[in-house]
Amino acid sequence: MAERPMICLYCGSRPGHDPAFSDAAAAIGRAIATRGWGLVYGAGDHGLMGLAARAAMEGGAPVLGFIPRRLVDLEVAKRDITAMVITETMHERKKLMLENADAVLALPGGAGTLDELVEALTWRQLGITEKPVVLLDTEGYWQPFVALLAHFVEHGFAGPSLMDDVALAPTPEAALDRLAESLSA
Ligand code: AMP
Repeated sequence: MAERPMICLYCGSRPGHDPAFSDAAAAIGRAIATRGWGLVYGAGDHGLMGLAARAAMEGGAPVLGFIPRRLVDLEVAKRDITAMVITETMHERKKLMLENADAVLALPGGAGTLDELVEALTWRQLGITEKPVVLLDTEGYWQPFVALLAHFVEHGFAGPSLMDDVALAPTPEAALDRLAESLSA
């Protein structure tokens, strides 16, 4: 495992309705700092993104943010992080986030989170990346997504290994344990 594993976090730019999501995002930020790890994310100040980054910074973790120029105001870029990199495009943002991290962790989120997560999974399928992907399944949030993956396999549009490409964890600590296991393997 790298001396300071960097975790690429995909999560909502909104907090969602259930306070459990906000609690989980803050707990992830704190736990990343406690373990001496670092955070890579989309540099937003709102929603679960902002909560996780704030908690990680408060705990002393390095936080790297990548944000496209046109979203700096729209998503309210978080400027008090360790380093904020402004990209020209969304694609560049996603590429740099993954390149600068050792593993991917997805928290509850919306279409943006899904886009990022599915790209990491398809890149794994294609062998473009081998970085592990873990889903924090707070309140069973990702169950419909896992059911959709199983639907792909059932209908012959993906091999069974697709189900092994995502690891689900019920709690923030379990999610980081799964990441630690994958990074040490
Ligand atoms: P959401 O889950 O919709 O709240 O979005 C979470 C984050 O994903 C936000 O920072 C969005 O800007 C980002 N996002 C949305 N679509 C894309 C995309 N196509 N490529 C990269 N990031 C995206």
